[in-house]
Amino acid sequence: MSTPERGISRREALIGAAGATAAGLATATPAGARSPRPPHRVDVVVVGAGLAGLTAATDLVRAGHSVAVLEARDRVGGRTLNHSLGGGHVVEVGGQWVGPGQTRILARARALGVRTFKTYVDGDLLFRYRGSVTRFTGLIPPLPAADGADFNALLAKVVTLTQTVPTDRPWTAPDAASLDGQTLETFMLANTRTDGARFVFALAVRAVFAAEPRDLSLLHALFYLRAGQGIINLTSTAGGAQDSRFVGGSQLVSIRMAQRLGHRVVLEAPVRRIGQSHGGVTVTTDRGVWHARRVIVAIAPTLAGRIDYSPILPAARDQLTQRTPQGSVIKFEAVYPTPFWRAQGLSGSAYNDVGPVGFTFDNSPPEGRPGVLLGFVAGSDARRLGQLGLGARRAAVIGSFVSLFGRRAGFPRQLIEHNWSAEEYTRGCYAAYLPPGVWSDYGGALRAPVGRIHWAGTETAEVFTGYMDGAVRSGERAAAEVRRSR
Ligand code: FAD
Repeated sequence: MSTPERGISRREALIGAAGATAAGLATATPAGARSPRPPHRVDVVVVGAGLAGLTAATDLVRAGHSVAVLEARDRVGGRTLNHSLGGGHVVEVGGQWVGPGQTRILARARALGVRTFKTYVDGDLLFRYRGSVTRFTGLIPPLPAADGADFNALLAKVVTLTQTVPTDRPWTAPDAASLDGQTLETFMLANTRTDGARFVFALAVRAVFAAEPRDLSLLHALFYLRAGQGIINLTSTAGGAQDSRFVGGSQLVSIRMAQRLGHRVVLEAPVRRIGQSHGGVTVTTDRGVWHARRVIVAIAPTLAGRIDYSPILPAARDQLTQRTPQGSVIKFEAVYPTPFWRAQGLSGSAYNDVGPVGFTFDNSPPEGRPGVLLGFVAGSDARRLGQLGLGARRAAVIGSFVSLFGRRAGFPRQLIEHNWSAEEYTRGCYAAYLPPGVWSDYGGALRAPVGRIHWAGTETAEVFTGYMDGAVRSGERAAAEVRRSR
């Protein structure tokens, strides 16, 4: 039975976690049975039961097609994942926030009865910089005057340049060759003089991309910011991309889509091979073979590149998948009996110049209990921390929380950790980023179908790329492509 105030029923919790098959989704063969079975036949196979794949499948089923969604994991939702806190409360260890303009994910959620609530923002933010912790309000932390002016000038340049990049074909921007021939770091260093401006800008880059300024093509950064309605929108909480959260957790959207698709969603079926001929496609998984007219591959490009294709993909598409790394992020959530920082007039948001936790949020459930402090470890910090043992990781992260929120932060009753780079069927988050030159030489291969193979996934979106909204839009676009095809 569902608990309306918390939004998620026991059966939905099962679909979202291991044990989903018990809750009604299909497996290709009964548990334990591995004997060969005749191939399955559907109109369209969808690879991946994340938001993109589930959206595409939903739209195709509505249009009267028979569909199979083949999912590698034993759960749906991909980069969205609820973590139970007990007592019916959940927090997300993957994607979670939505905001204005993210109309497609919000519309799907609304249609599925998944409600939103506002991210907690009341009170001051904290800025730990050069050994002292300062309280502030607003978006930009208090830097020394010269550094603040330097940062504002850099921000203004980024905002202006962002407007020059078209999100459908970034490589056609007026100065594309030059923008794609440099990293965001090169640009930052050439356009700032102060350490403070560089620190705050790099922190914002880690927050938005889960990567370092040196990793990203400037053109890619501008494309991504434009797709997300600008750097201010993407770094803002109230009124911005972190404005709201889903009651019952963001994974609930995928769980409810999968419930409606029922037996069409096949779990524990990693796709290993896609063959295509004039007649159709043959999709081979660990749990059987599917024949279809067309296939939508709704996974990140680097994962799509790990599938074998017959015939081999065109060189541009194959090389694109060799050049689209995923970002690096570990989410830590410290759980306390109450959000004790609220009583001190603090919002729970903080920026930190000493890693590993670079920025924090109050991630308590809508009821306000228990208290949850969310700490992001992103970019190089995630790469370094991920190599340490469990004890060292926990000590470092709790050390960050204590340095920001004081001694009480040192005694969480639970510390949840999720490292997306270590996930076989994700290999890094929040999304892919493009290093210099990739948009220029391979951009055309990102969405272009290859025969009967269509590409979806948030990385292929033109609006809110990298976000849940982009994933939904990409699924809608790929389903429309298939419907238009013969
Ligand atoms: P995925 O969710 O990756 O789905 C792909 C699916 O395909 C997965 O289920 C995977 O298991 C499966 N798969 C992979 N390979 C195979 C294979 N060979 N065969 C079969 N199945 C396969 N977005 C926001 O909007 N707001 C946020 O606040 C936000 N924060 C984030 C924080 C973190 C820590 C992370 C990890 C992500 C965040 N995101 C956020 C990004 C958001 O979660 C993603 O953009 C979105 O969920 C991607 O959906 P997708 O369907 O494109 O891909």
